[in-house]
Amino acid sequence: MNRLSVFLHSSIHKPMPLFFRNTIAKAPHGDKKIYLTFDDGPHVQNTPALLKLLDKFDVKATFFLTGKNVISNPGLAEEICQCGHIVGNHGWQHLNLRFKQCAAIADELKRGHDCVAELSGFRYIFRPPYGAWNPRIMKLCQELGYTVVLWSFSAADYNYHYWQKNNLAAILNQYVKPGEIVLLHDGAPQASNMIFALEMAIEYWLEAGKTFGLIPEILKK
Ligand SMILES: [Zn+2]
Repeated sequence: MNRLSVFLHSSIHKPMPLFFRNTIAKAPHGDKKIYLTFDDGPHVQNTPALLKLLDKFDVKATFFLTGKNVISNPGLAEEICQCGHIVGNHGWQHLNLRFKQCAAIADELKRGHDCVAELSGFRYIFRPPYGAWNPRIMKLCQELGYTVVLWSFSAADYNYHYWQKNNLAAILNQYVKPGEIVLLHDGAPQASNMIFALEMAIEYWLEAGKTFGLIPEILKK
């Protein structure tokens, strides 16, 4: 994966906000915070390690959980919330919903919802797996009161082979701009590499005076 494919990955999934008002991919112009988001958890090893790291620097973040992983890791999803983070719906079993029929999309969304809705940090925010959206998904989210949250920066942190050759911390520090929603994955099997890099990245950001925000803060604006 080269820089062009990282760029394409980060940009092809963005729907036009003019057509889909319940969608965000970035904070409004002038917002200087960095919005860290973590997908696909909770993960039995990676999520506790990530929570420890975020707590060390008192950084709050937004987690998009899959229903299946919430059920497999009882207690861990609520632990994320108790640490002051926000959680949203990432579907039940991480299906690509782009070419699914309405009933299948609704089933994924509602089963995911049932697993996260009782958590204390839950907000009505949905991130479609793989960022794969279509008008049916957007419409259904609107009907259910969900805002669809995409991202403005992905460093493809889950691609372990790519990061063996590149420095993820340096990429994050160089390319993440103020107001960006950053996509990372604590649910990926190799997430310990991301967590290692993130510690260096956060240290740099804090030294540079950067601050971090939660997705609901953008929705209020
Ligand atoms: Zn995902």
